[in-house]
Amino acid sequence: MTSAVYRAILENMGTHFINREYVENLLGEAGYAGDEAVSRSLDKAERFQGLNHREIAALLVNKNPDHLARIFNIAGEIKRHIYGNRIVMFAPLYVSDYCVNRCAYCSFNCGHGFGRRKLTMDELREEVKILEKMGHKRLALEAGESEKECPIGYILDCIQTIYGMKFENGEIRRVNVNIAATTTENYRKLHEAGIGTYILFQETYHEPTYDRVHLAGPKKDFAWHLTAFDRAQEAGIDDVGGGVLFGLADPYFEVLGLMIHNEHLEEKYHVGFHTISVPRLCPAAGMNIADFPHLVDDATFAKLVAIIRIAVPFTGMILSTRESHEMRKKLLQLGISQVSAGSSTEVGGYAKRECNETANPQFFVNDDRSALEIVSELMDDGYLPSFCTACYRSGRTGDRFMSLAKSGQIGNVCLPNALMTLSEYSMDYGDDAFREKSTAAIEKEIPHIANEEVRMKTVENVEKIRCGSGRDFFV
Ligand code: SAM
Ligand code: SF4
Repeated sequence: MTSAVYRAILENMGTHFINREYVENLLGEAGYAGDEAVSRSLDKAERFQGLNHREIAALLVNKNPDHLARIFNIAGEIKRHIYGNRIVMFAPLYVSDYCVNRCAYCSFNCGHGFGRRKLTMDELREEVKILEKMGHKRLALEAGESEKECPIGYILDCIQTIYGMKFENGEIRRVNVNIAATTTENYRKLHEAGIGTYILFQETYHEPTYDRVHLAGPKKDFAWHLTAFDRAQEAGIDDVGGGVLFGLADPYFEVLGLMIHNEHLEEKYHVGFHTISVPRLCPAAGMNIADFPHLVDDATFAKLVAIIRIAVPFTGMILSTRESHEMRKKLLQLGISQVSAGSSTEVGGYAKRECNETANPQFFVNDDRSALEIVSELMDDGYLPSFCTACYRSGRTGDRFMSLAKSGQIGNVCLPNALMTLSEYSMDYGDDAFREKSTAAIEKEIPHIANEEVRMKTVENVEKIRCGSGRDFFV
């Protein structure tokens, strides 16, 4: 179905589920919500019941510092209770920077002249080898949009190549995919190739801004982009990951857009976003960040992250190396459950870094520590880095994952998996000091596995990993 036909259907059915006027009116009226109404919403959030977009609007615009303090407290409480101190690790893998779009914020914009490339399968293997040497098991495959240079067949070849690689220490176990909005047929192919989450950032839910920053190319079609997850769901992909690029439009509008989108998916497919990413606009070649009037300051950003956390308590939240070490530390307490580490945002960037070649990235990252440094410092800060990919491998996707999360059983599944994968990581990639640190962290956590049988099994498996008699265990 072409995007024009899709748009016509949406207009006829009146199902254009993000209506600018509606969201703006909601934000205007939300200021009248009294303290009592806000307190009632926060009571609800405290019971981990999530919030609807009307309640979220009132929290966004409310200026009462006591309410804000309570939002931060509840976000921290949800984070600790549902996710414990586990942080899932991943890395992006850029395979092609050919792009036919003119996104004003991105250096891959087709108006920018630079030597474009896509990885050959040999180069891809080289990148994957380096990522595996860093200990990564979960990748996010990234590409610009170009039917000619980077057709779906090329993406499928990349996925097949990655899944086909075996290393002494295992393999890449989950490939998430962040490529342009495409057809139901192509989503079906991605589903059949065994992708993890299909990730797509709406960039902005504010249609006039969307139109302004997407100067040309297929991505300019707001409705086509907005309905991508519907097509993905229809094609069988039930783990979809949303996000906006904070800095393009009013951030309150964006959070409401995300929440309305999530409600739309819940209503129609009985499962909302599996993850929400919260990228903030970074400087990049060919754009001037000062041209963007809605940049989000650190304090507002922390508030947005906390509000999303309490609004959708069971949705994973992803933070990338766009954020500095300090900011990542703060946001981890407020709800972030997944972070990237050791990232390069360039095609062939991992091999280039090994040869000390200068980088030409999609945008400049703010945290350039190595993966091992990040993992190690996460443990220093009391977190448990997790390399788990078990849900995907056990078919616990979509509403099956959500049911597990909501049942309160996550601690008997995700915690043992985090401990076993961290133990494996430390044996495979850590030095003596790291192993000592991870052993202490694992021993401290084991008593927190509530189910006795699972706890005993985890102790047994961790021991097997340590003495080299077994690996790749998961619940
Ligand atoms: N090309 C596909 C698309 O645009 O949907 C997917 C991959 S693109 C490489 C990944 C994301 O990078 C985009 O969705 C955009 O939000 C983000 N991005 C682009 N320029 C950025 C910048 N200057 N700062 C931060 N993120 C940026
Ligand atoms: Fe291309 Fe994506 Fe960059 Fe836009 S954001 S220019 S579609 S790579």
